This record gives sequence, structure tokens and C-alpha cells, in this order.
Amino acid sequence: MNIFTLMRSCARDDVICIGPDATCIETAQKLKDSNIGALLVIERDGTVAGMVSERDIVRTYAELGTNFERKTVGDLMTRDVIVCTGDDDVLDVLEILHRKHIRHIPVVEDGKATAMLSIRDFEYACKELQLQAFTDPLTGLPNRRAFFETFSKELARHDRFGVPLSIALADIDHFKLVNDQYGHAAGDEVLGKFAHILTREFRSFDGIGRIGGEEFALLFPHTRLAEASRACKRIMDTIASTPILTESGEITVSVSIGLTEVGSGEDNLDLILKRADQLLYAAKTSGRNCLRIDAQDALSVFEDGAPVVPCQGRTIRHQMG
Ligand code: GH3
Ligand code: MG
Ligand code: MG
Repeated sequence: MNIFTLMRSCARDDVICIGPDATCIETAQKLKDSNIGALLVIERDGTVAGMVSERDIVRTYAELGTNFERKTVGDLMTRDVIVCTGDDDVLDVLEILHRKHIRHIPVVEDGKATAMLSIRDFEYACKELQLQAFTDPLTGLPNRRAFFETFSKELARHDRFGVPLSIALADIDHFKLVNDQYGHAAGDEVLGKFAHILTREFRSFDGIGRIGGEEFALLFPHTRLAEASRACKRIMDTIASTPILTESGEITVSVSIGLTEVGSGEDNLDLILKRADQLLYAAKTSGRNCLRIDAQDALSVFEDGAPVVPCQGRTIRHQMG
């Protein structure tokens, strides 16, 4: 992210400045009225002469007492101003602010100030950057990296406190055909709306992530296999019965899901994922639009009261429709 982009997200887009001949009282008043921590000092021709901060005013007052009133901005401003340009990288400039203990920096283009940025503007931009790094831009869902962070945290909680945890991998069926038949743009629309349906169907504390092109991961903290499988079946039902409206017409897709419950004492993320992936593969090979479930322990009870068969190759299959 560069400084131009940061400037677009700032609430204030004017540069509040003062002339070098202004008195300290006028400066203090302007700082108060504008509710900012520093003013740019600008010469008549628009060039930057210096900067004056709240700290400069307070220090001068402490040193001079009532003589303070006779001083002008030119007497107490910092002349050696560090500036940046719109093309500079936000993180590079932030590093300078931290290193030099600066709280405000003017943006200067062709010798003229176009904005004054505060460290708070930078902190906000960094939060945005962080959010972008963890969000899939097409669907707005947490991306692979974000999902796996959540998963490993939940896995640690499961391991430490013994709380149940289930995880599912969901893959849209024959998605290549959607692209081939309706075009890539329509495929993108389907992915976006598919993600919207997932988010809507999910409890807010469940975790979702787009972990591949048309592959999604669903995390069910505090949830045994039976309950998670009900949620997965609900999602499959909803997807298969909801035509998605795109620019190229209505498209209905289905989804295959592999769902597994993490066993007690099980803490190997890769092995758990591998199991879920194998179940997903089994769901694909057994006709798609279906759910395959499995648990490390045989403790879970499915909705009709039948115990879930433990893993090691055996699974219960739920064919839709
Ligand atoms: P299966 O039922 O076995 O999952 O078949 P499939 O066609 O869904 O699976 P395959 O892995 O053969 O194809 C996945 C397709 O998803 C191919 C790829 O072009 C498409 N895809 C992946 N990411 C995106 C994306 O961001 N946008 C669009 N429009 N298509 C994507
Ligand atoms: Mg697919
Ligand atoms: Mg796939």
C-alpha cells in the first residue's frame, strides 16, 4: 500500500497550516480548534517552512511563562521537516516515524504539501493491510492462511481442554463445467454467492475459509460429529436448491463434503486434514452432492441414534436427494 492509497482512506483531506509569523497564542488556538497535534508551517509561496506541534507550544510555555505571548511560530517550529511523497510505501514511512519518534508527517508533491498524516492514520492503514493479507478478495472470506491460523488455535484448545472439534472440506462439484459453459466471470460470481450462502447458513462462531479455487473449509468448534453433519447436510441442501443468479443466467451447483471429528488427544493438523480430504474424495467418487463423515473416536452418535463408525477406512455415507 502506498501513501496515496492511505490518503484516500483518511477522514481529513485538507492540510491545516499556519504562517511563520503567527503568534504562539494563535497557534495554540488553531491546534485546539482543528483538534490535531501538529500544524504545517507554510511560507506565502506555499513551500514548507517547518512544523509546529502541541509539544513545541507546551515546552515554550513552560520555558518562557508569560513571555510566551511574544514568540512567533517561526521562533519555535522544527525547520528540519521529514516529509514523504504519495508514491512512498506506507510501511517504509511508518518505520521512519517510529525510528525518529515522529507523530506527524507531511506529504509533499512538487515542493507543495498535499496532506498531513498522523501516526493514527498509519495504524489504521496497517490494520487494513493485515485484514487484506487474511482475506480472500473474491469472496471476502478468510483465506487459506487465516483459516489455518484459526484451525491451529482451535486444535490447541481441543488438545488442552478436551472440547470437541469437527472440520469439513467442501468442494463445488463440476465447477470446471460452470466455467466452460458460462464463462470465468460467471464462475467468479457463483463463488462469491456460494460464499455468501455459507456465511449466512453458519453460526457466527463457526470458522469458514476459502482454501483453494472452489474448495472451502468449515470449522465447527465445540461441536461433535452428529451436530456438524446436520449443519453440513443443511448447507448441501441449501446449495443444491438455490439457483445462483449471475449475469449469464441462473446457475445451480452442488457441493461434496468430507467431515471428520478430531479425536481425543489428536493434535496433528496435517493428519486431520488428510482424513477430511480422503472423505471428500470418497464423496466425489460416490456420485458427488454428498457428505462423507468419520470420527477418530467411536463416541459420537448420529441423529438416528446409531453410533458413528470409527475411521480406519470405514465411513458412513449420506447421499442427498
Ligand atoms: P469436481 O467435482 O471433481 O470437484 O470437479 P471440478 O470441475 O470442480 O474440479 P476441477 O479441480 O477439475 O476444476 C476446478 C475448477 O475450478 C478449475 C478452475 O478453473 C476453477 N477455478 C478455480 N479457481 C477459480 C476462480 O477463482 N474463479 C473461477 N471462475 N474458477 C476457478
Ligand atoms: Mg470441484
Ligand atoms: Mg477442487
